[in-house]
Amino acid sequence: MTDLAALGWTDEWALAFEPFAGGALVPGRVALEHNHVYRVITAEGERLAEAAGRVKHRAAGRRELPVVGDWVGVGHGDSGARVQIRAVLPRRTSFSRKAAGRGTEEQVVAANIDVVFLVFGLDGPANPNRIDRYLAVARTSGATPVVVLNKADLSASVDAEVAVAAAAAGRAPVLAVSTKGGPGVAPLESHLAFGRTAALIGPSGAGKSSLINALVGRDVLATGDVRDWDARGRHTSVHRQLVVRPAGGVFIDTPGMRELALWETDAVSDSFEDLQSLASGCRFRDCRHEKEPGCAVKAAVEAGDVDAARVQSYVKLLTEQDLIERKRDERALLDQKRQQGRAGAKALRDFHRDRDRHDS
Ligand code: GDP
Ligand code: ZN
Repeated sequence: MTDLAALGWTDEWALAFEPFAGGALVPGRVALEHNHVYRVITAEGERLAEAAGRVKHRAAGRRELPVVGDWVGVGHGDSGARVQIRAVLPRRTSFSRKAAGRGTEEQVVAANIDVVFLVFGLDGPANPNRIDRYLAVARTSGATPVVVLNKADLSASVDAEVAVAAAAAGRAPVLAVSTKGGPGVAPLESHLAFGRTAALIGPSGAGKSSLINALVGRDVLATGDVRDWDARGRHTSVHRQLVVRPAGGVFIDTPGMRELALWETDAVSDSFEDLQSLASGCRFRDCRHEKEPGCAVKAAVEAGDVDAARVQSYVKLLTEQDLIERKRDERALLDQKRQQGRAGAKALRDFHRDRDRHDS
């Protein structure tokens, strides 16, 4: 039997689940997704599950399909049988990326993460631009960001690096840690708690797996591989995507969260890092580096420090990004209207039904 509270189930979720509770559904949390087969943890244990046709159909694009971290309603079923996910509770937070090759359609990669650790390695200097980009991803998700400078054991100037990071981090705390001696990982523990869900994002190699190992305890991860659950009975080994920390807290670590770094943070900027830091010297924060006064980028071109063609492709990329953002906003607005329209139509139906009842 699983204590759902340890997974983050609260009175609030129970309330959100109430509309579905009558329909022979039980609540559970999606712990794993692999080729559209899910593993859902319910109070009665783990279940293999698939999205019911209705859920799939309703999902506008892929945004509403269940993802790891979702609280869902599943039908009853034996531990061996597949159950159906018939409801996905409204997400409190969600990490998403633009789905590949599908216009600006957004793909949610994980849901209901409370705190997100932005992990960087102190095997190099703290990079304010990079921190800024990851913070932007965290901000859109709704999760609370905490900046983590890992590998503090490798740096001779930890305090100075923390100061640099703190300047970029705004209100997010900055913690220096190490999984190999140094300050250890204890500073992270105060951000973990019973029922609280955490995730780690950051460049590959920053030490995210090592941190989860250190915080959860190796025993859990050693037995963490899920085997033998493939639909056709093939042997597969899938990395745990949701891990419960015995000392309190839940970690979510999905391939999608790992890719987020590539998709949402590094694409625009890593090849234009120098121009980005130049641009921070422009007078206007939203400078397009064209005709604006006080443009540091233009000045650098004129001084012959920067290639004009590179600036051109940089500006082009920025414009494209703007366009995507605007389209996404429009889409969100449209969804919202559609949702309101649906609610309006239902209210109207209820009204007519009530009136018909009164008339007869
Ligand atoms: P991930 O890609 O972010 O999951 O990074 P990993 O956890 O796989 O770590 C990448 C490499 O960094 C591995 O070789 C780790 O042993 C090493 N590493 C992780 N944390 C630390 C640390 O605190 N100090 C040092 N010196 N190395 C670390
Ligand atoms: Zn400029």
